[in-house]
Amino acid sequence: MATKPDLPPLDQRKLSNLTLLWGFVRAYPAQLGAALIALAIAALATLAIPRGLKQVVDNGFAAGSDPAAIAPYFWGLLGVVAVLAVATAFRFYFVSWIGERVVADLRKAVQRHLLTLDPVFFEENRPAEIASRLTSDTAVIEQVVATSASLALRNAAMGLGGILLMFSEAPKLTGLMLLVIPLTMLPIIFLGRRVRNVSRSSQDRIASLGTMAAEVLGAIKIVQAFTQESREAARFGTAVETAFATAKKRILLRAGMTALVIGLIFGAITLVLWQGALDVISGRLSGGTIAAFIFYAVIVAGAFGTLTEVYGDFMRAAGASGRMRELLAARAGIRAPERPTPLPSPARGALALDKVTFHYPSRPEDAALLDFSLDVAAGETVAIVGPSGAGKSTLFQLVQRFYDPEHGQIRLDGVPLTSADPEEIRARIAVVPQESVIFATSALENIRYGRPDASEDEVWAAARAAHADGFLRDLPDGIHSYMGEAGTRLSGGQRQRMAIARAILRDAPILLLDEATSALDSESERLVQAALESLMHGRTTLVIAHRLATVRNADRIIVMDGGRIVAEGTHDRLIAGGGLYAKLARLQFETSRPDEAQVA
Ligand code: ATP
Repeated sequence: MATKPDLPPLDQRKLSNLTLLWGFVRAYPAQLGAALIALAIAALATLAIPRGLKQVVDNGFAAGSDPAAIAPYFWGLLGVVAVLAVATAFRFYFVSWIGERVVADLRKAVQRHLLTLDPVFFEENRPAEIASRLTSDTAVIEQVVATSASLALRNAAMGLGGILLMFSEAPKLTGLMLLVIPLTMLPIIFLGRRVRNVSRSSQDRIASLGTMAAEVLGAIKIVQAFTQESREAARFGTAVETAFATAKKRILLRAGMTALVIGLIFGAITLVLWQGALDVISGRLSGGTIAAFIFYAVIVAGAFGTLTEVYGDFMRAAGASGRMRELLAARAGIRAPERPTPLPSPARGALALDKVTFHYPSRPEDAALLDFSLDVAAGETVAIVGPSGAGKSTLFQLVQRFYDPEHGQIRLDGVPLTSADPEEIRARIAVVPQESVIFATSALENIRYGRPDASEDEVWAAARAAHADGFLRDLPDGIHSYMGEAGTRLSGGQRQRMAIARAILRDAPILLLDEATSALDSESERLVQAALESLMHGRTTLVIAHRLATVRNADRIIVMDGGRIVAEGTHDRLIAGGGLYAKLARLQFETSRPDEAQVA
């Protein structure tokens, strides 16, 4: 049964999503300890400054006092400043280091996990969007871990320490302040919630912009061929404007919140100071004490101001790590069983499909394969023909266990695929897809994808067997030439021969071949055909056949329609039978040369 990837519902805005990050931070106790110590020293040094100031004001500025007597206070103050400077540098280094490290680890963990998920996940979640999450969401997280977390800790420490020290200096004034500050928090909390919602939708809009841009730029030739540039520009423009409108809402709210915070907090401080001035006049407080109090009040107010600002950052990071968590929590529907049955060794390459019925999860009403049974003996070549949508590619998907059928069983050398480890199954299969996939690296590395430990000589041998050596030698840097994004520097036929060389190098007992002739002229087709023949030699081959030559050379032809086998036999017998095969053959062969004829 093709199970849906199991995505637990998560509230992405919950701050508890940040615990995901703690799991990564925890791995670096030494750096974390160093950061916390530096942070504590810097906060203490900052809080010590008003104390020094108090001494300086009360003892230093009295007219007629001894200049030598004030020197220790100033030296002390300079010492504190030096400690503050050094501790701040250390804090910055270690905290930023942790931020960068956590994001690097997170990116690696998410990518490693994504690579284990099955195709159903990527049908439901667009790869481009996931890729943009991997970059943009992790950047938001980086900002928080590297900057906002340290700001929050430092300001929380300074805010609390400042309040305690204020208390020790002027309890009455501080009490008064503590009474008004909570009042200022109420509107902040209320507005904070709104900012949070708006920033989430602003982030979503930006993520979809990334996806849209990637999609259109990836298909630039089609866009230009259909002269859709201005329409695409307008479509993107509208999306950008929507993102801007959402961002405007967010910054407007943020601006309002900032005004409110500053107005309320500094207003409250001014009122408190008024009271303080009255106390100084009446002689209840010294000038130095009120100076220290003001300094502390500024520190505390600044600390709370910063805390409200970083609160927004934390919310954004909570959203981002919520999405990361979601990716990490996705479970592949196709997994190795607890104790996988090992496939027999040496491999024979016998395949059996027994009454297999399969529906794609997104198309539960239409069976892609229906009660499908097929036995392929080791070393046999079976050609599969049938109209478009008959289920030919689906058969390949199931044999590679990208999906599990709901009914029936598929066995490889007698072992049901569901009891074996998918990696072991796939190690015994080489695939040549219809669309050759070429990675943006050298030709050598592209062919080596079939077997990464192959030597250069082995790669050349595979290239020769695939009739790819000629053009590879002619490339500017030979086999070391860069292939361009998605192999854009090769022709269709060359790409295909590279894919064949890769499959030859893999040297697997089972071969799944989706022949494609559309991209080939007769010369390349002849070369590809020859390459395929050397590849098929001595292996069990299932080939979605588009060429008459393949059909003729196959041991058996099966004709598929509507997810079932409708006929089976040799070319001549099927033609004589006069069914779907004869019809397909007539349609194709009448218009083509026999050696180019396509039957599927
Ligand atoms: P073609 O010769 O055109 O490649 P095919 O015989 O290989 O066709 P399949 O690709 O196996 O046909 O498709 C069989 C049916 O399953 C079709 O109706 C198709 O629309 C559907 N199908 C294929 N892939 C998916 C998918 N990922 N999700 C949902 N339905 C799919």
